[in-house]
Formats: sequence, C-alpha cells, structure tokens
Amino acid sequence: AGYDAWDASDQYHARFLLGPDAALDFALSNSKKHGLPDIAVSASQGKLLHLLVRSLGAKRIAEVGTLGGYSTIWFARAVGPEGKVVTFELQDKHAKVARENLEHAGVGDRVEIVVGPAANSLAATEGNGTFDFAFVDADKESNVTYVKECKRLVKSGGVIIVDNVVRNGAVADENNDHPSNVGVRALLKYLQDDQELEGTTVPTAGSKGFDGWMYLLRK
Ligand code: SAM
Repeated sequence: AGYDAWDASDQYHARFLLGPDAALDFALSNSKKHGLPDIAVSASQGKLLHLLVRSLGAKRIAEVGTLGGYSTIWFARAVGPEGKVVTFELQDKHAKVARENLEHAGVGDRVEIVVGPAANSLAATEGNGTFDFAFVDADKESNVTYVKECKRLVKSGGVIIVDNVVRNGAVADENNDHPSNVGVRALLKYLQDDQELEGTTVPTAGSKGFDGWMYLLRK
C-alpha cells in the first residue's frame, strides 16, 4: 500500500469515528490562509493524542512546536477548563495564528504560548516534575534536547510522545543524512542508555504518509 491507500483508509475510518468539527476546520483553514505549512498532525492522530491525555487524566501538558495550534486544540480540550497547556513555538507568526485558532475554539484561556527557540524557553521553564504529558513536534535536530527538558518537566509516570520518528523509513537508512533523520537517530542512541525513560516506536500510516511516534514512559 502507498500514500493514497493510507489516506483513503484514514478518511474511511474518520467517517465513523470523527465527527464534523468547526473549530478544528477553522484552525486548518485559517492556518492555510496565513501561509502556514500543512504539517499539523492528522485528525485521527490529534484524536489519539486527545484520548491518551484523557485516559491518563493528564492536566498539565508541555508541547514543543505549536504551528497553528491544531494539536494544541486537541490537548486543550482534553485537559479541560482547569487544565493547562504550555506550548513552545519559534515563529511569532505561527504563535499569532495559533492564538486566533485557540480563541476561536474557546480554549485560549488554558493555553500559554511561549515564543522563541524552544531550547532556551524550555531551559527557562520551572516546575520539575509538574507536567503530566509532553508532545515533542518541532525541529527534529533538537529532539535530544527537547526530550531531556521534557523528562525534567514530566512527573514520574508521565508520558512523552515524540512525533515523526519513522519518516517513511528514512530514519533507519543510515546513508540518509537529512538533519531530521540524524536528529531522530541521536534520540534513539540517547534513549538506549537512558535509565529514566522507557519507550517504543509506534509506526503510523495515514493521511500524513508513513511515519511514527515514539511513546516514552517517564519512570
Ligand atoms: N504540533 C503542531 C500540530 O500538530 O498542529 C505542528 C508543529 S510543526 C510540525 C513544527 C513547529 O515547530 C513549527 O511551527 C516550527 O516553527 C516550530 N519550530 C521549529 N523550530 C523550532 C524551535 N527551535 N523552537 C520552537 N519551535 C520550533
């Protein structure tokens, strides 16, 4: 099967499991209108993140890589009105569009967008062990830095998910030295010896192609 078949499969399942959602549709169309790239998680992935957060009862979430706030909306809904999502974004323009999308979705009150290079912003973020969940989805070259910072912020028993770790199989091709692949490989190497995180890769195939997540349990 190739991309078209995965896309069709994603859409087929979505007909049964994902209803219409005006706020998420607005977030995507408004992001497009402002020229943001089409690299948010898919609807089925967003819903899985949302359900994971609810299943874990997570109330405080750190997200690295906001873009237009599409995944952020899924998270903000999952934590509920008393919860909090802190999302880190390099680009001011992305943060502004995300703010519009979050307000439009009615969840802006529970989301803080921190603008700037996430490595610096994360290092300046206090609250060791006060987060329940983290989602890493920014520049893949910095994956090790982001996972280390999220490990510091997430409590024991919390979960860190890292997006785009399969990359159509390219990560496993060591001849492919694209910086994103190198970044994921560095993360794998780091995790091999890390005593505080235990994880596995979950390959995904759908409307965003063939990729995968890393699911990491903070011990
Ligand atoms: N999580 C979003 C979603 O699913 O809706 C998609 C995030 S997009 C794949 C990656 C984002 O990371 C982009 O908005 C990009 O500007 C941001 N980014 C790239 N480098 C960054 C950095 N050094 N610090 C913070 N954000 C960065």
